[in-house]
Amino acid sequence: MAEVENDAQKLALATTNNNNEVAPPTEKKVKKVVRRKKRPARPQVDPATVKNELPPQTGTIYNVWYNKWSGGDREDKYSSQTKAPNRCVISTDAGYTRADAHPGTPFCLYFARGICPKGQDCDYRHALPGPYDIPPQNQDCFGRDRFSDYRDDMGGVGSFSRQNRTIYVGRIHVSDDIEEIVARHFAEWGSIERIRVLNSRGVAFITYTNEANAQFAKEAMAHQSLDHNEILNVRWATEDPNPMARKREARRIEEQAADAIRKALPEAFVAEIEGKDPEARKRRKIESSYGLEGYEAPDEVHFARGANAVNPRGREGYELENEQRLMLEAAEDAQAAEEALYEQQQQQPEPEKGGILSSSTLAALQSAKVSVASKPKAVAPAGPLVAYDSDSD
Ligand SMILES: [Zn+2]
Repeated sequence: MAEVENDAQKLALATTNNNNEVAPPTEKKVKKVVRRKKRPARPQVDPATVKNELPPQTGTIYNVWYNKWSGGDREDKYSSQTKAPNRCVISTDAGYTRADAHPGTPFCLYFARGICPKGQDCDYRHALPGPYDIPPQNQDCFGRDRFSDYRDDMGGVGSFSRQNRTIYVGRIHVSDDIEEIVARHFAEWGSIERIRVLNSRGVAFITYTNEANAQFAKEAMAHQSLDHNEILNVRWATEDPNPMARKREARRIEEQAADAIRKALPEAFVAEIEGKDPEARKRRKIESSYGLEGYEAPDEVHFARGANAVNPRGREGYELENEQRLMLEAAEDAQAAEEALYEQQQQQPEPEKGGILSSSTLAALQSAKVSVASKPKAVAPAGPLVAYDSDSD
């Protein structure tokens, strides 16, 4: 009994010893390189609570084809007193949807309003417009048609005749920190260029860097509250009457267009036409003459890049690739030839062994250049040389 206990103690001791020896505390931090996968979009409202009901009467005429009211004002006195049912939170709600497989798909209007129940199954994008998400001129970032003129109340989709990056926000609760509050709430919808707050009147003008963000913000903040449970009145700002501001805006639009063009053209081309590369002109003259005096290849030839380009620079990288391919093919050919030769040798009839004549006799006869019946027939040389071996003449 005592022995058994002893044994058990020994065993316990052994295991603890083992444990001490084998397992020094390993606090090695394994740095995992995990490529952050974009998460799926989150349904913003419970799909079960969404009823397929007619849109609330917000106009004077109901258009059965478009399933909406017209002739009235959605942001009228009645509806603008009703707070929006939910609000989009970019940090938790945004994510990929089906639309991410198709570049250029508009953003989800219901996502912006915080009420899209579809999550990742939505056919529109659940994200904030980026600097290069520029919708077509006649549409807003939600894919809605724009009109030539603004609505009288500056609400709605807006106009395509003027790039408008500024939204008007009214009915803000007036407080001492109104500027901070406005900046905090509106910064969520994109990069802001300028905010003007008319403190005493509870009105703010927010100018976004990109028009698409202004469109998004206008929908996202309509009938929302800031910090004081107010119900905001969000509209398009009217054009700044200040001539300096107009000039500035015109120049900005030009720059934006130039930027888009720059992005679409090869870097070398842009550097040259903008005169950023002083040597480019000289180099171009030499390079694109192809040794012909006075000749200069046109832009589309000189700047062409790829396998089909005719200029040497445009073919850079492609030549090498082609050469390597040819070498590879040559190597394959050589191998194939070797294999064919080997097969041929295998098919040759082997010299008979153990025949009437011993191998030593055969060798002797061969050296004596006497033709022997059992000697393997010489293989007819393969290839084009056959023709020259004819003994017909
Ligand atoms: Zn959606």
